[in-house]
Amino acid sequence: MELHEIFAINLTPEHLDRIVVLTGAGMSAESGVPTFRGEGGLWKQHRPEELATPQAFAADPQLVWDWYKYRRNLIAATEPNPGHTALVELESILGDAYTLITQNVDGLHTRAGSNRPIELHGNIFINKCNNCSNTFPDDALNFDEMPPLCPKCQGPVRPGVVWFGEGLNPVDIEDAFMKSHQATLFLSVGTSAVVHPAASLPEMAKQNGAFLIEVNPDRTPLTSLADTAIHETSAKALPALVDKIRQVRSKSI
Ligand SMILES: [Zn+2]
Repeated sequence: MELHEIFAINLTPEHLDRIVVLTGAGMSAESGVPTFRGEGGLWKQHRPEELATPQAFAADPQLVWDWYKYRRNLIAATEPNPGHTALVELESILGDAYTLITQNVDGLHTRAGSNRPIELHGNIFINKCNNCSNTFPDDALNFDEMPPLCPKCQGPVRPGVVWFGEGLNPVDIEDAFMKSHQATLFLSVGTSAVVHPAASLPEMAKQNGAFLIEVNPDRTPLTSLADTAIHETSAKALPALVDKIRQVRSKSI
């Protein structure tokens, strides 16, 4: 489907009862956030898989923190794109009927103005105690010692992201599954739809009767399941889609 056809999507007011949006790496890439995947993804000769693990942090916390500080700086220099902004607008239209779930750790949704997205893989700007899980702002920690120590329990403080080999936060994943299960409309945006459990969310929503829209320039394993697949970037497709939803919404009021 092309951009100008978005207006023809057969959405009804009932589809807007409970909307879930799942976003992935494609959205961040459009803001220029590097993924460090594939060719050229090395940092100081290290692959991400060698740095984003509990074992790497235990063995060399300085190295792992240096990598995350480097990434924080790169992300801080990026800006939310029109796709992020469109989702903020969608939230303001729908209020409690709207849930945002993201696989991205860059915090761009929050910076754009989204309220409390479910960040399945955490947030790179959060400092979290590996021991008691409390979180602290940068200025509450001493980064001259490595790792910085938790002010509450003296445990090692780490970036608040989910590493390779770790499980997702059970509260977040339960919330994400519940909301997806109840969804009447599900938007899968810029995600390759292959990493579980996030990939299960649109499948489950669809099985439970949700109208499933995919926004991705490329085909994914989800494309054949979707009611509508928009092969466009999220920065282009989401503003048009939100216009469409606003139009459907205004008919129902
Ligand atoms: Zn602690």
